[in-house]
Amino acid sequence: LLAPDGNLGVTIFEEITALAGRHGAINLGQGFPDEDGPAEMLDAARAAIAGGANQYAPGQGLPVLRNAVAAHQKRFYGLDLDPDTEVIASTGATEAIASTLLAFTGPGDEVLTFEPFYDSYGAVIGLSGATHTTVALQAPDFLPADGALEAAFTDRTRVVLVNNPHNPTGTVFPRRVLQQIVDLAARHNAVIVTDEVYEHLTFDAAKHIPVATLPGAAERTLTISSAGKTFSVTGWKIGWVTGPAALVAAVRTVKTFLSYTSGTPFQSAVAIGLKLPDEYFTGAAATLQAKRDLLSSGLQAAGMAVLPSQGTYFVTADTSALGITDATSLARRLPELIGVAAIPVAVFCHDDGARRTRSLLRFAFCKKTEVLELASERLAGLG
Ligand code: PMP
Ligand code: GLN
Repeated sequence: LLAPDGNLGVTIFEEITALAGRHGAINLGQGFPDEDGPAEMLDAARAAIAGGANQYAPGQGLPVLRNAVAAHQKRFYGLDLDPDTEVIASTGATEAIASTLLAFTGPGDEVLTFEPFYDSYGAVIGLSGATHTTVALQAPDFLPADGALEAAFTDRTRVVLVNNPHNPTGTVFPRRVLQQIVDLAARHNAVIVTDEVYEHLTFDAAKHIPVATLPGAAERTLTISSAGKTFSVTGWKIGWVTGPAALVAAVRTVKTFLSYTSGTPFQSAVAIGLKLPDEYFTGAAATLQAKRDLLSSGLQAAGMAVLPSQGTYFVTADTSALGITDATSLARRLPELIGVAAIPVAVFCHDDGARRTRSLLRFAFCKKTEVLELASERLAGLG
């Protein structure tokens, strides 16, 4: 559970955010937007607090939120869920991930993730005592190599943990790869846990396909999402898990003893967000796409090769053309050097993956246009 720098309990996001603060740098490291979410939601949270919604919510989440999550899965994906037994609220996707992995895995089990993998996956797999196995996502398109998935599954694979759209690479998995994951999970009797927190943030022609919609998936898939990214309220920490009742019940048992329940006034406000018209969701993605393009141009102008990002808040850039071989040490110097902060991709990897990705940096583009313009000017100082 050591952070990559050896400091107990300090994540790379905290470390780089602290460095950015110390040097007054533009923080394109930790992924959080610099504008608040929809006014309807902010008003709803204020009204809920003023109206006295300040005590414990039911452990599985407020009915209004569970109903809204079920309606959202129906509206966007055609999935039918019983809001009473197939949906629970969580304290962000982070708690949902922890509850799910702790519910299903322990010593002797393997949890398979796609490398680079989001940092909490490795930490929670460590807490559960399971073994963390990985499939490499290969640049430039960050998909598994032919045959790699089959080779990675074993009969000890208890959970395959998918993150789609994928942080940090921005990959949106095509149907072919997702179906292969489902088929292999079925063959090895593994549970599929799919972290879809960036489900609405896809660009160009990329289309998000929830794993749970694929043939053979529904009965073994737990889907995790969160309000943080979709509605630019990362500090609210409201997430949810959906899936078959028996699997959801197991997750709920663990969630009960991690946090018991999640922020009451925010739950009803998130329910308002989930019911916003389609235009809200498509508009948010279009706005982010323009920001991706703006920052990508800045990174290119600074001499970096920009790898394709089809979704999320993030774009990865290769610093090797600048003569950099260790992007992790560059990331630690960048805030002081040019006043911009970024996250090294290698911290999302085990040793082999870290070697493969040692020249890559991840930049967050969920920032105001003028901030991205200023960051681009500063990045030009690198060349
Ligand atoms: N999963 C992924 C892939 C993420 O990028 C993040 C960060 N937002 C989370 C989970 C955690 O989400 P939350 O803030 O809702 O806990
Ligand atoms: N998910 C965010 C990211 O990848 C950060 C969350 C955190 O700070 N743990 O940047």
